[in-house]
Amino acid sequence: MKPRKVRCYRGYASVPARWNIEVFYTVPDMYLIKLFTCIECGEIFVIDFENPSFAGKTAQEIAGDTVCPKCGKPLRETIRPYPENFRTDDGREGHFEPERIIPPDSESFVKDLWELGV
Ligand SMILES: [Zn+2]
Repeated sequence: MKPRKVRCYRGYASVPARWNIEVFYTVPDMYLIKLFTCIECGEIFVIDFENPSFAGKTAQEIAGDTVCPKCGKPLRETIRPYPENFRTDDGREGHFEPERIIPPDSESFVKDLWELGV
C-alpha cells in the first residue's frame, strides 16, 4: 500500500438529521480508478482496476491480508465501495450516489489516498 494522488469531485450527502456531509468521488465512466472505504473507521482507499494484475479480482481479493492503517481491522472484511457507503465522523453509516453528470475540471481537486494492492 502506498499513497497515490487521485482527482476527485465533491458531493454532499446526508444521514437522518444531518445534512451537507462532504464526500468525494471519481468519475467512473472515464477511468477505472475506484474508491473504497473501511466501513469500520471511514478511512478511504483507491484501487486502480486498470492494473493488469487485478484482472478478474474483487476489491476483497486485492485487499488480501492488508489491515486498515487507521483501525487495524482486516480490509478484506471491512472494505466497501465509496461513497456509495461511508462512515460519518460521528460513527454513522451513510450512502451516496454520485451524479452521472461529470462536473467541470475546475471543480475537481486532488486527494492523497492509500492505493491498495501495490
Ligand atoms: Zn479502518
